[in-house]
Amino acid sequence: MKKVLLHVCCAHCAAFTIEHWRRQGYAVSGLWYNPNIHPFTEHQRRLESMASLARELDLPLTVADGYDMAAYFRRVAGHEDGRCRHCFDLRLGKTAETAREQGFDAFTTTLLISPHQKHDLIKEIGDGIAAQRGVAFLYADLRKRYSDSRHITKPLDLYRQQYCGCLYSELERYADPREA
Ligand code: SF4
Repeated sequence: MKKVLLHVCCAHCAAFTIEHWRRQGYAVSGLWYNPNIHPFTEHQRRLESMASLARELDLPLTVADGYDMAAYFRRVAGHEDGRCRHCFDLRLGKTAETAREQGFDAFTTTLLISPHQKHDLIKEIGDGIAAQRGVAFLYADLRKRYSDSRHITKPLDLYRQQYCGCLYSELERYADPREA
């Protein structure tokens, strides 16, 4: 059976995505690497929620060493308006590298199910990294299945975030535009 390493951004995006790739015949393992989630306490809440889902769905889950917040800020400094490109590249790059080191056949990401993310950009970056690093990127447009994912996580009563992840996205979510 082919093995895919799935970058997991949160439990609510992971639930149906795991199911989807299993139905395609893959043995799925998860990788948590999200240094874009700020502050650290928020990162830990989302990670705990993901770890609970992994236990529930019997998903082998690796948590990358270290929180690596500085790596995220080094990447986006001076590119704040285009920060998502650097954010995706950082996380998918780490996933592809780990997949290659550990002998996976392919890598992919739960970001592809989110209706809130820059979907085409994720695909472009995933394809680019695959070509550079020599490990296949599995693509599927799962956005229409996001509600199925929520259907799986709802009864589990897991913490659900209110903003994308970085401090910039938190500001955009909560700042009163009248004060800008
Ligand atoms: S808005 Fe979301 S995807 Fe974009 S840089 Fe911030 S955490 Fe990353």
